[in-house]
Amino acid sequence: MVFLTNPPPAGIYIHIPFCARKCLYCDFYSITNLSRRNTFLDALFLEITATKSLLSFDSLYIGGGTPSILPADQIGRIIDRISGQFNLDGSAEITLEVNPGTVTLESLKAYRKSGVTRLNIGVQSFQDSRLGWLGRMHSADAAKDAILWARAAGFDQIGMDLIYGLPGQSRKAWLADLHQAISFDPEHLSCYMLTCEPETPLDRMRQRQEFKAMTDEDVCGLFETTVTELSRHGYPLYEISNFARKDNSPDANRSRHNQKYWTDASYLGFGPAAHSYLSPVRYRNHRDISAYISDLNSRTFPIAEKETLSREQQLMETVFLGLRTLEGISIRRFEEKSDRPFNIVFQDLLTDPELKELITLTPEHCSLTLQGMMVLDAIAGMFVDRI
Ligand code: SF4
Repeated sequence: MVFLTNPPPAGIYIHIPFCARKCLYCDFYSITNLSRRNTFLDALFLEITATKSLLSFDSLYIGGGTPSILPADQIGRIIDRISGQFNLDGSAEITLEVNPGTVTLESLKAYRKSGVTRLNIGVQSFQDSRLGWLGRMHSADAAKDAILWARAAGFDQIGMDLIYGLPGQSRKAWLADLHQAISFDPEHLSCYMLTCEPETPLDRMRQRQEFKAMTDEDVCGLFETTVTELSRHGYPLYEISNFARKDNSPDANRSRHNQKYWTDASYLGFGPAAHSYLSPVRYRNHRDISAYISDLNSRTFPIAEKETLSREQQLMETVFLGLRTLEGISIRRFEEKSDRPFNIVFQDLLTDPELKELITLTPEHCSLTLQGMMVLDAIAGMFVDRI
């Protein structure tokens, strides 16, 4: 007799490919020609309606781009279409990414009414000079207003994105941003290191030597400051860039949706450049709104790339993504996939005295210490080499 176990709930991601203006560091796909919003939505609804799935879903993440460029009635239509098409749990986490430059108290109230349960606010910094340098469209005061309005609109799940590692940013300046964020008592904080992604305006500025990037050592120092300071204020790290307010249980305020990306759960992505993963198949839509719309208008799925991950690739992902998280690699998951004992495959790393301070091993998990997370890429590379 074969017992079938239910797969864990999956997630849905919607990519809204519009921004009022491009930030200098950003490599997410978006365009600033807002006149294509309605044609895009028609295509998005075609894509959703043509997709069938028997999975159960417990998270919907509307990201981009700047989804808060769309009014609440359009966001509400997207949520309704997803709920009508898929088995979306009645208590699903429904997140909307918000740019502070695009919202008012009234629009946030309308988003709440349309079914959004969680906001992720792109604050990035509480200092106007740094927001200007990043090319953000909003001021620090606009970010503060958006956070206060979000609470007033009834949101009890609020996350904020912050960026650190800007040229010349001192520990004191970064601590000021962190303390300002904590003062609003958000449920979640994401703190990202600034990176110069290829072909962004920021990367071209770096090549022209218009600024001096922070040294790796200084960035590591700010990472350490972030983890210790947020932990001291009740926001333990649960992934290398993510921190959730502890409350009654450590995982109460974690992003349900984002955790799917690190734990091998399935997700469906809709919209240009959106990724989907149905183990072991991964695929990505066109990173081009014209190609996306044109494919859907001719009743073709707008898929640009599709690959079936080999067992080796799946193991690499289990290791690489697991090491980013507080819990670490699930040894059971690794052994189920590889048919080999974890302790044997990585024996030399697990017994290397030089790595002792960087790696923690329990019967269930293998994770990195804070020191280990500072050299995540190097350690992950060592694990991957042994697969
Ligand atoms: S608002 Fe967000 S998606 Fe749009 S350009 Fe800025 S960082 Fe990128």
